[in-house]
Amino acid sequence: MKKIMLTGDRPTGRLHVGHYVGSLRRRVELQNTGDFDDIFIMIADAQALTDNADNPEKVRQNIIEVALDYLACGLDPEKSTLLIQSQIPELCELSFYYMNLVTVSRLQRNPTVKSEIQMRNFEASIPVGFFTYPISQAADITAFKATTVPVGEDQMPMLEQTKEIVHKFNSVYGETLVEPKILLPENEACMRLPGIDGKAKMSKSLGNCIYLSEEPEDIKKKVFSMFTDPTHIRIEDPGKLEGNTVFTYLDAFCKPEYFPEFLPEYSNLDELKEHYKRGGLGDMKVKRFLNNVLQAELEPIRNRRKEFQKDIPAVYEILKKGSEKAEKAAAQTLKEVKDAMKINYFDDMELIQEQSKKFSE
Ligand code: ATP
Ligand code: MG
Repeated sequence: MKKIMLTGDRPTGRLHVGHYVGSLRRRVELQNTGDFDDIFIMIADAQALTDNADNPEKVRQNIIEVALDYLACGLDPEKSTLLIQSQIPELCELSFYYMNLVTVSRLQRNPTVKSEIQMRNFEASIPVGFFTYPISQAADITAFKATTVPVGEDQMPMLEQTKEIVHKFNSVYGETLVEPKILLPENEACMRLPGIDGKAKMSKSLGNCIYLSEEPEDIKKKVFSMFTDPTHIRIEDPGKLEGNTVFTYLDAFCKPEYFPEFLPEYSNLDELKEHYKRGGLGDMKVKRFLNNVLQAELEPIRNRRKEFQKDIPAVYEILKKGSEKAEKAAAQTLKEVKDAMKINYFDDMELIQEQSKKFSE
């Protein structure tokens, strides 16, 4: 069986470091292994419209921002197909048929959608499109016959929903769709990176982000404003690591080589953590270290982005070519789906003959 990767992001803002550790960094690594027969990276504008229907300009403006972030992180259009969801009409058609295989109560049980509804104050009136976006996501995944989907933890319910649709479809209409596997980050801190406020997950919609394209001064300001351990008041007090966002970010970003470079008095992160827990290590020192780490990680990304920003028409051209290629793949799957469902009346000579016979008797 072919190895195919699909994943994507909603163009609701520039991409942030949560996207990076949750999915983007992994995509680039996987892309560069050369192990995949095909890689599809989707800018999910149609999904973004499900909760931004009254603000289409926001979605329109952010398509290029997401595309620039992709290229800046090392997604390479020679190796990965970058596409825009709305340009593949086959995805709507697939969603339409999959809707018959999912119940309203099943959608209501989706924990990610539940918390997103709360976050958006949609409790009283949920847009139907938003409520059903897990089905459209199943269409995205299956349209490209994806076998691997590298995403953050919040996407687990979507992958479960997709697998259920695949099983139901295949059992009703015959073996047609491919079951995808979710690929979660290996590192606990990267599954759901918290925002700089330490409260919820870092999310474009919550405004608690460090963006990949952030300028050095702003990164520094955000790091120094970060949430730590509120009971760690004096340097000599013992500190807690649980819920301490600065340490969570170090877990997500720190590499061994950063110690000799920025903090040579410690040999690794465990040593730093032990000292913090014992007492005697101030928050400012840890924040200074984190700032150095993030600056080192983000500088090359920011610089590459600035290069790609010099030729915006070329970036749109990459998306156009990618969308064209993606549409061909989705059209093939849609054909297989309609054949399996026998929605292929004009190609079905048996049906036409059978009906002729029925009416001539
Ligand atoms: P929105 O607020 O518009 O939903 P978002 O910031 O949640 O935006 P998405 O486009 O929904 O971003 O998510 C894109 C991908 O990034 C998904 O695979 C998701 O799991 C991952 N992701 C998003 N935020 C985080 C995070 N804080 N930690 C880890 N992974 C994340
Ligand atoms: Mg999201």
